[in-house]
Amino acid sequence: MVVKDRLIGEFMELVQVDSETRHEQEIAKVLKDKFMALGLEVKEDDSKERTGHGAGNLIATWKATGTEQAPKILFTCHMDTVAPGVGIQPELGEDGWIRSKGATILGADDKAGIAALFEAIRVAEEQKLPHGQIQFVITVGEESGLIGASAMKPEDLDAEFGFALDSNGEVGSICIGAPTRANIEMTITGKSAHAGVNPEDGISAIQVASKAISAMKLGRIDKDTTANIGKFEGGGATNVVCELVTLYAEARSNVQEKMSQQIQQMRDALETTCREYGAQSEFRSEIAYPAYKFKEDDELVQLAQRAIRGIGLKSETFVSGGGSDANVFNGLGIPTVNLALGYEYIHTTQEKIKADDIVKAAEIVVAIIRETAGK
Ligand code: ZN
Ligand code: CA
Repeated sequence: MVVKDRLIGEFMELVQVDSETRHEQEIAKVLKDKFMALGLEVKEDDSKERTGHGAGNLIATWKATGTEQAPKILFTCHMDTVAPGVGIQPELGEDGWIRSKGATILGADDKAGIAALFEAIRVAEEQKLPHGQIQFVITVGEESGLIGASAMKPEDLDAEFGFALDSNGEVGSICIGAPTRANIEMTITGKSAHAGVNPEDGISAIQVASKAISAMKLGRIDKDTTANIGKFEGGGATNVVCELVTLYAEARSNVQEKMSQQIQQMRDALETTCREYGAQSEFRSEIAYPAYKFKEDDELVQLAQRAIRGIGLKSETFVSGGGSDANVFNGLGIPTVNLALGYEYIHTTQEKIKADDIVKAAEIVVAIIRETAGK
């Protein structure tokens, strides 16, 4: 049985360890010690030198016991938080919700998930549950753009499939898809000239960029795809025909081919317009993370739903509009769904979570361990 006081006490303890993204050194140490105290083998990977974050990712491996044939699985959460996340003072209200007392976030994103994992390990030990090998992968830098997960080495991971605990939504529901995102940078180089003396000798990068942008499909493209220009940079004095403009943009799609089409459309609009006005263009795009999409009847989704429904909870599936570490694990070839934790207003000082939802999350982890072990 999940012990509510122990679990909520540990959650309160974890959120009080400062861990704003890039500054994960302290929380990493606390988590490492806790995994070791529970008897797991913990490795901190070597990503720190590549990411510049406060620690590497932690991979805690729990050896199989009582059943050798069960599939190897992983659970993943992230240890970092957004700002303001220093000096968090959590408070359990009479309404059963946990909030932060001060002017900070709460950090239930994602420490509710981490607390649920620790409690599940304790419960499984106490009940002597047979289980296959389980890795607990706690990443850094999720909030900086999935930095830690993206820097993982596939050889550090040893799992057939996985479960992230890092989604909004009612506890029990499962995020079975999330979009890919591309970062796009475009430059338009025109020609400077004196705006009053000889403007006809110039090519205004601002005008060309505007024409190019008006030829781009932006905003909501279709139900799967969006695109946005977030920053327009260029120009200076009003008496100079502007020579250089840089545009920073993104595109997202739940469907990989639609993403390619969207990027191509933006690129064509840029290049055609620049050619027409005699300007030079450069177009760079980079896939920040891949999309993933499971079907309702995929075995991984079915397994999770059997486990969750087996303990009397509802289990809906949904597709998210934003990426998470689950995107990266799927990209690494480890099919991973993202379980909802029930937190609300994350990334704001109003962030809150129900204590009972953290309890349910821990029960779900235990149920998944049981279901995977076939017991
Ligand atoms: Zn999160
Ligand atoms: Ca977040």
